[in-house]
Amino acid sequence: MKILLASRNAKKLAELRRILEPALPAVEIVGLDDVPPYDEVPESGATFEDNAFIKAREGFRQTGLPTVADDSGLTIEALNGMPGVLSARWAGGHGDDEANLRLVLDQLRDVPDDRLAAAFVCSVAYVDERGELATDGRMPGRVIREPRGTNGFGYDPIFVADGHDRTSAELDVAEKDAISHRGQALRRLADLLVAER
Ligand code: IMP
Repeated sequence: MKILLASRNAKKLAELRRILEPALPAVEIVGLDDVPPYDEVPESGATFEDNAFIKAREGFRQTGLPTVADDSGLTIEALNGMPGVLSARWAGGHGDDEANLRLVLDQLRDVPDDRLAAAFVCSVAYVDERGELATDGRMPGRVIREPRGTNGFGYDPIFVADGHDRTSAELDVAEKDAISHRGQALRRLADLLVAER
């Protein structure tokens, strides 16, 4: 059986394969580059879950394949939960990681250290002919003022997870998968699919 991950992100595809394929050996995960192209819908939802379902429903409607999609971001207490669903385009353009990170650091310049609590959050949506499933994951921690590390992407260089002293960009892939918001949400989906499909 094929499952579509409604994403072109090679790292997400690899992560989903690492988590889902051992749990569901009969399943092959394909990405948007492996199916006939279709116009992707804008991520206009108010929540991570809304956006994940926008992408998963469209993938299923367009391809007929069971479809998984995720939406994720960084929520910072001192910014009232932002950048949140706007994480990828916080500085304006979509996916300019360096500009996004710099803008967040500028906005936090006068905020005291004890108000830098933050969390990475991820919602995963799954849609097939039998219905819809949703899971989520959360990695609590705090923002630091000086970026460190070269692994990962996005806000990883300025995020330290609770119980750690290295940033997410200083963790290796396996360490981050084990604690990450996306790792948690995808493992929960794998458990649901094993139990219910
Ligand atoms: P999306 O889920 O691909 O839409 O990503 C949302 C945005 O949230 C990314 O562009 C990053 O800026 C941020 N983000 C989500 N997950 C992570 C993570 O694990 N590390 C760093 N940044 C992340």
